[in-house]
Amino acid sequence: MNNHYDLIAIGGGSGGLSVAQRAAAHGARTAVVEKGQLGGTCVNVGCVPKKVMWYGATVAGALRDAPDYGFSLQQQGFDWQKLVERRETYIQGIHSWYHTYLADNKVDEIHGAARFLDTHTLQVGNERYTADHIVISPGGRPQIPDTPGAELGITSDGFFALTEQPREVAIVGSGYIAVELAGLLNALGSRVTLILRKHQLLREFEPMLRETLMEEMQDSGINIITNSSVSEVSRDGEGTLRVSCRGGITLTGLDSLIWAIGRIPNTEELDLPAAGVAMDEKGFVPTDEWQNTNVAGIYAIGDVTGRAALTPVAIAAGRRLADRLFGGKPDSRLIYENIPTVVFSHPPIGTIGLSEDEARELHGDAVKIYQTRFTPMYHAFTTHKHVTAMKLVCVGAEERIVGCHIIGLGADEMLQGFAVAINMGATKADFDNTIAIHPTSAEELVTMR
Ligand code: FAD
Ligand code: NDP
Repeated sequence: MNNHYDLIAIGGGSGGLSVAQRAAAHGARTAVVEKGQLGGTCVNVGCVPKKVMWYGATVAGALRDAPDYGFSLQQQGFDWQKLVERRETYIQGIHSWYHTYLADNKVDEIHGAARFLDTHTLQVGNERYTADHIVISPGGRPQIPDTPGAELGITSDGFFALTEQPREVAIVGSGYIAVELAGLLNALGSRVTLILRKHQLLREFEPMLRETLMEEMQDSGINIITNSSVSEVSRDGEGTLRVSCRGGITLTGLDSLIWAIGRIPNTEELDLPAAGVAMDEKGFVPTDEWQNTNVAGIYAIGDVTGRAALTPVAIAAGRRLADRLFGGKPDSRLIYENIPTVVFSHPPIGTIGLSEDEARELHGDAVKIYQTRFTPMYHAFTTHKHVTAMKLVCVGAEERIVGCHIIGLGADEMLQGFAVAINMGATKADFDNTIAIHPTSAEELVTMR
């Protein structure tokens, strides 16, 4: 077997698969090294299983609202295990599809953990592989604190392994994963406590979004403890946990404690020093704007770079890198600006661009804000209500839209099209000149005064 390639990607997740597939499409001899399951975090313990659970939670919401729409239902309960089994079968189907996809695209699969021997050589098991170009795309894993008893808790990986629904659960953290898991577990009927070390969640987000979400989560019955942190975790009974928090609060009888406090890069076992690749103090691999590391011929993409840890970002960075290296497009690179993102909270958030504060810092008085807050028509009929709130951040006399922030029913599907417009440089007048679609929540974005 010829073990020399034009390009090898370390990690068969969102980034590695996309760079390898695109490089192969340009005629490069390409391989992906994967030590676990193809698809990486997103497919196995991230976006995909999370969205399935979120859809389950959406069905639970519809069942709750059904009597308000005239339905008389007798609920027979919810079978967590059945949903999990169906979810995992779906994911196995994605694995099979990937194997065929790689074979069809002439990308070799190498199974095992890769580590560098030098700048062009990798060791995987007993084999050595060399490549002109090596892409570091090993992703990351959840962080666990060094709190006494922390190992009694689980992370998002452990959440996806749960075969029984936790009835009483505490979640530590304030980012995407904490609010998404809190929302879906609550909607599916678990009693949820969220522990924030500060006074707010989603700290980097537009304040209107995070404040509205906090109110909505509390209204939905989630217990939110702010300005606290866990000092100790211990067992307090047959399979239940006791969580002591600083500030005097103690939670008892928990079925589960979930750490959702951020992720760390999978760089330890790569032996990057053997190739001279620099890491930052947390182990992330910095790159320039072309995804180049400090070593010629070695690149990094995806979560391992510590920037915008999102699947479409890893995919786009990988495809553009392959286009640059093999596709005759020397200027191809990902520009990390105006990245739209959705938080699958309850209700969901869709957001792109600058927050109001960021815009004011950059553009001062040239900033103009349009905002609205309303009860969407669906909830006009329901006992249990969720609000919708929207904000457009505009700059200059032409009112160029530099930020669009939505929380509410449908925000997850609403944002993509608006993101295209904003990336094309849309102004408020462009939005106003677009005929509204009625009756929708989205029409508010083109009719704001
Ligand atoms: P990964 O997908 O993590 O892939 C890395 C792969 O490398 C893994 O398969 C790993 O096994 C392998 N690997 C590691 N080390 C080695 C080695 N030494 N040798 C060989 N293989 C190795 N993003 C979104 O855009 N939308 C979402 O809704 C979303 N939801 C998420 C929910 C959760 C719970 C989590 C944890 C993440 C979510 N993300 C979401 C983020 C998204 O999953 C990541 O941004 C994306 O998977 C990053 O892709 P990657 O290629 O950098 O790494
Ligand atoms: P995040 O980085 O989003 O959030 C973690 C937060 O937890 C921190 O911002 C911090 O907030 C808080 N925190 C950190 N350390 C501690 C600690 N020791 N104790 C208590 N709180 C702490 O990480 P996640 O793990 O939620 O998600 C990782 C990434 O995965 C996300 O950033 C996102 O890029 C991606 N993702 C995307 C999703 C999507 O697209 N829908 C869904 C899920 C994940 P503070 O400083 O304010 O306390």
